[in-house]
This record gives sequence, structure tokens and C-alpha cells, in this order.
Amino acid sequence: MNFYSGWATLVCRVLLTTLILSMGCFLSFASYAAQNAPEPDWSQPIMSYLERVRDNPQQVLDDILPKVSPRNDKETSASLYYVISRAYSSLMLHDKALAAAREGLFHTDQIRQPKRYHYMQLASAEALKGLGRARQGEKQVADAIQWAKNHQSYNLLAYAYSVAGYMSLTLSETDEALSNFQKGYRLAETKLLDIAPEDFSGMIALVYEYRDEPSLAIPYFEQAQIYYRKSNRRLELANTLFGLGRSHLKLSHTEVGLKLLIESARLALDIRDIQGAAYSYQQISEQLIKAGQLSEAEDYLDDALNLFQEANNPYQQVGVLLLQARIALIETNNERALFLIQAAKRIAVGDAFLPHKIQINYLKAEALAALKDYEEAYHLLLNMLEDERTFRKEQNSQRLIKLKSAFDTEQQRDRNALLQEQNLRQQTELDQQRERQRYTALVVTLLVIISLLLFWQYRISRKHQNRLENLANHDGLTGLLTRRKTMQDMEQQLNLAHRHDDEISIAILDLDYFKQINDTYGHQAGDDILKGFASLARRTFRGTDILGRVGGEEFLFTFPHTSTEDACKLLSRFSLAVKQIPATIGRESISLSVSVGLVSGQYSQDISTLIAKADEALYDAKKSGRDQIKLYPLGPSPDDNDSA
Ligand code: GH3
Ligand code: MG
Ligand code: MG
Repeated sequence: MNFYSGWATLVCRVLLTTLILSMGCFLSFASYAAQNAPEPDWSQPIMSYLERVRDNPQQVLDDILPKVSPRNDKETSASLYYVISRAYSSLMLHDKALAAAREGLFHTDQIRQPKRYHYMQLASAEALKGLGRARQGEKQVADAIQWAKNHQSYNLLAYAYSVAGYMSLTLSETDEALSNFQKGYRLAETKLLDIAPEDFSGMIALVYEYRDEPSLAIPYFEQAQIYYRKSNRRLELANTLFGLGRSHLKLSHTEVGLKLLIESARLALDIRDIQGAAYSYQQISEQLIKAGQLSEAEDYLDDALNLFQEANNPYQQVGVLLLQARIALIETNNERALFLIQAAKRIAVGDAFLPHKIQINYLKAEALAALKDYEEAYHLLLNMLEDERTFRKEQNSQRLIKLKSAFDTEQQRDRNALLQEQNLRQQTELDQQRERQRYTALVVTLLVIISLLLFWQYRISRKHQNRLENLANHDGLTGLLTRRKTMQDMEQQLNLAHRHDDEISIAILDLDYFKQINDTYGHQAGDDILKGFASLARRTFRGTDILGRVGGEEFLFTFPHTSTEDACKLLSRFSLAVKQIPATIGRESISLSVSVGLVSGQYSQDISTLIAKADEALYDAKKSGRDQIKLYPLGPSPDDNDSA
């Protein structure tokens, strides 16, 4: 039994350990996978467009515009419009970029696709910034940053920092711009993202360039330049070379600066970024004018003008025409100067051109003065001063609006921060609660499994014990109770009978001349007869009777609640049936009989006294010729008790 329960315990332990280990492995793997699986923000084809969009926006547009169709599903439409918006932004075609972003937003479900929605919002904010309406995109960008932070969506976050930085830069908030770009830089440094740290270097350089701090800008431009050269990103390289060239020119590194600008223009033309080339030409010519190389400057300006015309950029066209007019004035070609100024004036219609108009009037006055038309020149200068006052007033009021909205934004930011903190706290509590629930479920599951295993072990050992008990209590040959069990049960019944003042009968039965049967017919025949005897007893007597084999061919039967008379009747019938046993096992020739000693009535004696009395009666039955039942106390004439 020890061996058996030891084995079951071992099996239980092995099962349990395996279970706990595999569960642990599963849980840790699941959480590892959840933490580390990078979730792509876009499908593979869209990703490959986005990779190309910053370097070759025009080609991406050529590829993707034919794919736009009303038959596309919402998902596809949204993704395509996003790429289109980014491409137009790269090409500085901001109105088209805004229209595409709005189409994208129209096809995006804010609730079900929050990440995509924020990407679209950023694209639209970027376009708004390009259109000089940066303020309108501020909230979208702030929302995107917050969402990306909360959901650890780092690619989105990096993009949001870049848009936020550009937006601040457009609004002349250079500290804010630097801070956003630096956040992006640090993020890109720690994670492998679509935007590299060097991309942010380029952006940081732009801020320093804007602040007129070329010596600070140069190292950042350099870092970006090396990266773009290595990764062969030509559009960004062209832009970086432009910034780097200008910074060098500002520091009077004329030769290096011009070389960089020329390379930038060449690259821009290669990738059909015509405006990029035009800006470079404009810069180069300004430098050449300063150096007095006027005819070379004019060549570059002609090219720049053509390119700006092609790109439909009136603002820059006016700028180039005025540069050309300045050259004409230096060359004292006043008629040509007036002609160019007139051409600029025709284009510069609307409030947006106010700074240009000031310049136009100034240059025209200069030309007229050179032509000795002093009165007209004087009028123009008066006009110019008036325009300048208006411009300054406008700038002041714009500055006021900016200050006011900065104040509002600050306040809103404080409120948002408070709300965010609350949200974050609730989110953390929710997460903790969820975690607790998960562990509780795990513990309960484990407890259930342990209980089941223990129960199983209990069942096995219980069954085993029953079998052992059965073996110990039953005689192997006949299946009747063993001597020990017979005595035990008999004592119990005797006590009960005594307590309830009940009748009980006890009989010892011994097969007659059994040795002889064995000797004559063999041991096997003897065994068969013993088995037949037991089977007959079981069939004849009640289930509550105690039927035991106490010796080789000697049996002790106890009949509770049974009177002497009833016991005698029962045993007489049984003795008769015993004679038939040889016939039932195919040994008709054997003559079998049984002698019985019976003690009956209400007895308070102990078990051994009773057995001794039954034995005495049995001895009497044997002595009187066997095959009979004798009752204790023994009567005067033994022959009277012959039951047969
Ligand atoms: P009596 O009428 O006086 O009881 O004579 P008997 O031969 O039955 O009595 P005795 O006590 O001399 O012999 C009992 C025999 O029972 C001896 C033994 O060979 C036989 N015996 C005891 N146990 C078994 C058994 O398990 N199987 C068989 N085949 N024989 C057994
Ligand atoms: Mg005997
Ligand atoms: Mg015998």
C-alpha cells in the first residue's frame, strides 16, 4: 500500500510541476510577445510608399494617383490619401496636401481606427502649417502626441513631434520648436523608428538657421547630410545641402556655401523638385550680386523665375523679379528696372504681398529718382512709408493675437495636464485591477486542478485499500469470510443480540470423511467440493448471515435474529442440499455429507465459550455417526436430534 500511494503522489507532483511550469512559460511568453511584437502602423505596400515619399514624392504621386478610385474600400482610400497628402507636403503643394488629408479623414473612423485618425490629423496639420495656418492645426497635433504617448505608438509620436516642431517654427516659437525636435531626437535615438535621429538633426538645424545662428546650425546639418548621403535620400539631402550652404554663406564661407547650393540645386532638379532648385538659384544669385558678379547672377535668376513660374509660386516670382530689378538699378538700366518692377507689381496683388509692395515702391522710387522724376519718387516713398506703418501695425496686432493665444494655450495645457493625470491614474487603476483578476483566475484554476488531482489520488488509494481489505477478509478458495473476520462480525452480532435481547444461532459445520474424499478423488476434487459448498451456503442463507471458513473443511455460520427452531430447519434443508454438491460438479460417485453443531437462543456468554459449546455439539454429531445436526445443550438421547 505504501508503494502504491507513493507512486500516486509522485505522479501528482510531476503533473503539478509540469502544469505550473508550462503555465508560467505560457504567461511569460504571452506577455513578452505582447510587449515586443511591433505592431505595423500601415500595410506593407503603404509602408513602402511612405518610405519613398520623403525622397521622391513626385514619383510616389505618379504611382499612387491612378490607384485612387471610388470603388476602393474605406481602408484603402484612407491609406492612399494619407500617402498623397504626405507627398504633396514634401512638394510644398500644401493646398493639395490639405485636400488629400481631409479626404483621408473622411474615410477614417475616429473611434475604431484612432491611430490612423491621428496620422491623418497630423498630415492635415502639416498642410495647414504650410498654408500659414499653423494655429488651426495645434490642437490636432497635441491630441496626436497625447494619444501616441498613452498607447506607446512611437512612430506616430515621432511624426507628431516633427509636425509640432515645424508648426512652432512657422509661428516663430523657436524654443518650442527646438524642444519638440529634441524630444523627437531622443525618442528616435532609443527606438528604431521610421524617422531617424538624423532626420531630427536636420530639423534642429533649421531652427538655428531661422534664429540666425549659422554656427550652431552647421553641425546639425552636417550630421543630417552624412546620413542622407549614406542612405541615398536625395530630396532630403538636397534640402540639407541648401540649409548647410546658406549657413556657410552667412559665415562668409562663400566658396563652400556656393558649392553646396549648386549641388543642392542639381540634386533637386534630378528628382524634379523644381522649387527646391529655384530656391538654391535665388540664394546663389543673391550671393553673386553681393560679389558683383551681376551677369552670372542674372542667369541664375532667369532660371529661378522660370522654375517658380512652373511651380506656380507667385510669391517667389515677385522676389526674383525684384532681385532682377535691383541688378538693373545697379547697372543703371533704369528702364529695364521699371519694366521688371511693373511685372512684379502685376503679380503682387492682395494683402499677402504687403512686404513686397513696400520693396516695389522703394525700388520704383529709386528708379524714378535715377530718371530724375523726383516728384513721383517722393510720392512713392510716402506711399512706401504708409505701407510700412500698416505692415508694422499688422505685425504688432498679430503679435498680440499670438501672445493672447499663447496664454490661452498655456491655460488649456494646465487643464489638460490635470485631466491627463486623472485619466492616467484611472487607467493605471484599471490595469492593476485587470492584473489582479488575471492572477486570481490563475490561482483559482491552479487550486481547482490541485483539488482534482488530490481527489483522484484519494480515489485510487481508497480503491486499493478496499481491495486489500477484501483480500484480508475473504478466503481465497471459497470467497467466504476468513476466520478472523468471522470472529469479528460474530462478536458484533452477539453484542447486538445481547443489547436488544434478541435471538441468535451459531453453527459449526464439518464435512464428513473429507480426508478420504481427498485421498480417493484427489485434492482438486476436494477443492471443487469446498467451492461448491461455499456457493451453496451463499445461495441458501441470507445476506445478513455471517458465513465463514474457519478450518480446512470446517465452517462457522452465525444467524442473527434466528430462533433455534428456524436455524434447525434451515440447516436441515442445507444438509440435504449438500449431498447434491458432487453431482453439480460432475462427481456423482462421491458421497458427501456434513455434521453440524448448533448453539442457539439468547446468550450472554463470550464468543469462545459459545464456540466451545457448538464444537461440543459437533463432536456429539460426529460421534453419533455424522451427517446430522446436534443442538447444545445436548439432550439425553443423541439419536432424537437426527435431522435427516
Ligand atoms: P471427519 O468426518 O472426522 O471430519 O473426518 P475428516 O477426514 O473430514 O477429518 P480430518 O480432520 O481428519 O481431515 C480433514 C481433511 O480435510 C484433511 C485435509 O486433507 C482436508 N482438507 C483441509 N483443507 C483442505 C483444502 O483446502 N482442500 C482440500 N482439497 N482438502 C482439504
Ligand atoms: Mg475437520
Ligand atoms: Mg471432517
